[in-house]
Amino acid sequence: MSNEPSIRVAVVGAAGRMGREVLKALTPEEGFQVVAAVDRHEIGAKTRDLLGGHGPDLEIEEKLGAALDRAPADVVVDFSHHSAAPTHAKSAVKRGASFVIGCTGLSGDDMKMLRELCAGQGVPGMVVPNFAVGAVLMMKFAEMAARWMPDVEIVEMHHDRKEDAPSGTALLTAEKIFNARQHAPTKLPETYFKVPGVRGGVAYEVPLHSVRLPGLLAHQQVIFGGPGETLTIRHDSLDRAGFMHGVKLCARKVRSLSGLVVGLDRLLF
Ligand code: NAD
Repeated sequence: MSNEPSIRVAVVGAAGRMGREVLKALTPEEGFQVVAAVDRHEIGAKTRDLLGGHGPDLEIEEKLGAALDRAPADVVVDFSHHSAAPTHAKSAVKRGASFVIGCTGLSGDDMKMLRELCAGQGVPGMVVPNFAVGAVLMMKFAEMAARWMPDVEIVEMHHDRKEDAPSGTALLTAEKIFNARQHAPTKLPETYFKVPGVRGGVAYEVPLHSVRLPGLLAHQQVIFGGPGETLTIRHDSLDRAGFMHGVKLCARKVRSLSGLVVGLDRLLF
C-alpha cells in the first residue's frame, strides 16, 4: 500500500449487479475507502450480507446527499439508472465530490447539463459508457482499420435483459468508423428482403445487428471486408469483474482532470 491518502468513494446503485462488483473492487489495498453505499432498494441492508461476507461494512442508504453529508467522499461512482444519474451528479458536485457515471442511456441534454455543471463549479467528472479496457481498444482498432477498409458491419450480442438496442458501444464504434473512413463504403445492390429487418439497422452508414440471448453478457464483432480478405475485431465481456480495471482507473484519476470527460479513452491513449 502507498502512503497516499485513500480515495473516499460513495457508490450509488450499490445493491445492483455492477454496484456490488464495485463495492468488492474498491479495496483499501488498492487505495480506496468506500464510505457510503446508496440504493433505492435494500435500504438498511448490510453490504457485507449482500456480498457474502466480503467488502466494506456499511448500511445501504437511500439518499446520496444525506450519505455525503454524513461521510464526505472524493468521488461518487454511479451505476444506478440514467434517469437519476444527473441528479446524483449535482448532489456530488454541490459537496465538492467528482462523479464517475457508468449508467448508460444519458441524453444529449443530460450531457450538456453535466458539462455545464463541471465547468461552472470547477469540479471534474466523467461519463464512461464502457469501462472494459478491451472494448475501448476494440473501438480504437476499428477506427484504425476503417481508414483502409471502409466496408464494415457490426454485430453486437448481449444478455436478454438489456433494455436498449443497439448498444451504446455499437453506436459509438459506428460513429468512430464514420469519422475515420477515408472512402465511402461500397454501394450494395438493391436487395429483396424475404424477412423484414434481416439486414439490421444502419447508423453512421454502418449496418448494425443486435443479438439478444440468455447466456450472453456483452460481446461485439466489428467485421471489415475488402477484396479477397476480411478482418474481424472481436471483444467479449465474460464477467462484470472485467469492467473494474476501468472503474478503478477512473475513480483514481477523475480528480486530476478538468471539466467533463467522456469515455475511458482519455485515460488510456
Ligand atoms: P441493476 O439493475 O442490477 O442495478 C441498478 C441498481 O441501481 C439497482 O440496485 C437499483 O435499485 C438502483 N437504482 C435505480 N435507480 C436508482 C435511484 N434513483 N437511486 C438509487 N439507486 C437506484 O443494473 P446493472 O446491471 O448494475 O447496471 C446499472 C447501469 O450500469 C445500467 O445503466 C447499465 O447499462 C450500466 N452498465 C454500464 C457499464 C459500463 O461499462 N459503463 C457496464 C455494465 C452496466
